Amino acid sequence: TSPKWERRAVIDLSAIRNNVKQVADLVAPSAVMAVVKADGYGHGALQVANAALQAGATWIGCAHVTEALALRKAGIDSAMLAWLHTEDTPFDEAILAGIDLGVSGWDLDAIAQAAQRVETPARIHIKVDTGLGRNGSTMADLPGQLQRANEYQEAGLLRVVGIFSHLAVADEPERPETDEQLAVFEQAIELIEAAGFDLEVRHIANTPGILSRPDSHHDMVRLGLGLYGLSPFEDEAPDKFALRPAMKLITRVANVKKVPAGQGVSYGLNYRTSEETYLGLIPMGYADGLPRVATGGPVTVNGKTYPVRGRIAMDQCVIDLGPEVNPEDFIGKEAIIFGEGGQSVNTWAHAAGTINYEVVTRISPRVPRFYV
Ligand code: PLP
Repeated sequence: TSPKWERRAVIDLSAIRNNVKQVADLVAPSAVMAVVKADGYGHGALQVANAALQAGATWIGCAHVTEALALRKAGIDSAMLAWLHTEDTPFDEAILAGIDLGVSGWDLDAIAQAAQRVETPARIHIKVDTGLGRNGSTMADLPGQLQRANEYQEAGLLRVVGIFSHLAVADEPERPETDEQLAVFEQAIELIEAAGFDLEVRHIANTPGILSRPDSHHDMVRLGLGLYGLSPFEDEAPDKFALRPAMKLITRVANVKKVPAGQGVSYGLNYRTSEETYLGLIPMGYADGLPRVATGGPVTVNGKTYPVRGRIAMDQCVIDLGPEVNPEDFIGKEAIIFGEGGQSVNTWAHAAGTINYEVVTRISPRVPRFYV
């Protein structure tokens, strides 16, 4: 960490390693895939991937092939899977780089054609839609998909090495749909095994599945949110699972000034001071990834938490320090948006009416990342 930076996201890689170890112990003997899409949920895909592999993860997962290719080029040589494709996805490069490909429908043919061009068989994981209604073959389409996959496999163009699916409501453990999805997944596994494919991995669990449904672990789990030390459950903090949040978002108080009662604060003047008070200026705004709607979001200075007053602007926001402070105790002092010593990502998510996933993934590239 360099103290000269005023605004930074500090990523604790020992927290990442701890989180992988906790999950690896919990799911053993299932393998752990570290999901590092969206630049490692805003934490830095390469640094997180390296830390996760050191700590015992054996697979890396990305949504896009381009994300996986960037990691391969940066030296990540583990097994890797990418699952969300469009017509312009560089399948040729992916196959040559040894990146496994999730297959949902049309992409089976496109991948087989790419394999023919580069004269190298693709490794594919058949994705099944067990109820989420996003990508993946429906159960009705699966037999046809398997038949075509078999033809391509016979022709030496690909090898079906995995089957996978994704859970829709595992973050709400009381809901019945997870049972239904797991049952459909079992049927899909039976179907694919009956078709004679020699599978290496069957996988469906995301973080909420990992933490609440041992029966979802299968051969491998895909660990995203929990890798970063965040909890997917509304009422359960990460420490319940011995997970440690890895990101701390900090800046410094840029200015403090005394204003009279009735002073409007920030665009729209939606907030007015009720008494003479000191306002603290925080040099972070929505261009840094703070949600614009998160008025009331907590900022911690000198061990005390102050809510943001008025609208969050592009580069800055304002906290009300109260009438009794000495400005010199605040100007230039560390202001913790979230993370160790301050409030949680979830508190910001609540203020913004969103989820912790969105808050961390949207911390913008303008905020320098430092690794400890
Ligand atoms: N698997 C797939 C296919 C995903 O899209 C995601 C992320 O949404 C994950 C796994 C990781 O999920 P989570 O962050 O809940 O662990």
